Amino acid sequence: MVYKTGNKTIDDALARLFEGERLDRRDGIALMAQPVDELALAADAVRREFGDGTVDACSIVNAKAGNCAEDCGFCAQSVHFETGIDNYGFLGPEKVLEAAKRAERDGAQRFGIVVAEKGVSKEHRPEEWEEVLEAIRLVRDETAVEVDASLGILTDEEAEILAEEGLNHYNHNIETSPRFFPEIVETHSFEDRVHTLEVAKEAGMDLCAGVILGMGESPTDRVDAAIALQDIGISSLPVNILNPVAGTPLGDELGESADITTEEIIETIAVYRLLHPEARVRLTGGREANLDADEQHLPFEAGADGILTGDYLTTEGQSPGDDIETIQQAGLEPNQEANEFDPVAVKSREADEGTVETAAGTATSNAIEE
Ligand code: SF4
Repeated sequence: MVYKTGNKTIDDALARLFEGERLDRRDGIALMAQPVDELALAADAVRREFGDGTVDACSIVNAKAGNCAEDCGFCAQSVHFETGIDNYGFLGPEKVLEAAKRAERDGAQRFGIVVAEKGVSKEHRPEEWEEVLEAIRLVRDETAVEVDASLGILTDEEAEILAEEGLNHYNHNIETSPRFFPEIVETHSFEDRVHTLEVAKEAGMDLCAGVILGMGESPTDRVDAAIALQDIGISSLPVNILNPVAGTPLGDELGESADITTEEIIETIAVYRLLHPEARVRLTGGREANLDADEQHLPFEAGADGILTGDYLTTEGQSPGDDIETIQQAGLEPNQEANEFDPVAVKSREADEGTVETAAGTATSNAIEE
């Protein structure tokens, strides 16, 4: 099927995409300059052609918070910045399992164990490493959700052990373009992040790696980040939108608002869909802070087909019932491939209980930050 929007740049890209060609950086930059409505139509057509008509929900738990020695300029958990968040050590396997069960109940297909630091270390903190492995085993054996983890930088040996323990996916965001990255992070490099993704992939794990929009990057940076992710080879592309935290360099520089408009969020999602036709383009942290309630469904009409449901690392999200409502408002259905659940029950539970306790509610950052 070839879909036509009437826009020559977009239609040319679509025709090549549907013939099996991968769009490149030049295409991405040209597409980013096209009208957002036409981009959204094209992205929706690509999602229908390459996707399964569902939106996949994942959920996370912030299993160890704060005191991170790194200096990522957006992150409330860095020891370099005074943000007033709760710092705590690893929650322990049972509490992680408890959070995974809540995520399962609320319709998540995938559950991410997130540990705030450059890297959980088998060599330097063997007890904590063993506890993380035990948490992975418990979630793997006692829930239907797929297990994801975000443990920072990995060695070859650590990646192999994680894959053997049944970790299906590894999350490690590249955050932004190679050019802009050093303006946000000084204590490690873009290449360090890419290396960990390569190590995780080599060990056999699927990759979940994405970006944070609105940190002051240019539209070309947004394209370059997506091109870097093409080269790495990912199956899930989380798109966070900065929710600036007071005390972080970006919070102090930008105040309360990310440096991005609603239109730019939607056009970036649409271009990402065209550059990554087969990946889950997943709307994650910061969407409620940057999109009005009546705009929440728009990215899902512009090619997004994944969502991070529940709370984020140190900030609250909307309820899983509201997320299902948003998905259905866009004319889509929640994915149920790994974990069958009743969307009506999730929505009514919210009505009954007032507030749905979410996975990350056991410990509530801005985004999937590792
Ligand atoms: S994003 Fe991760 S590595 Fe960077 S400061 Fe936050 S917790 Fe540390």
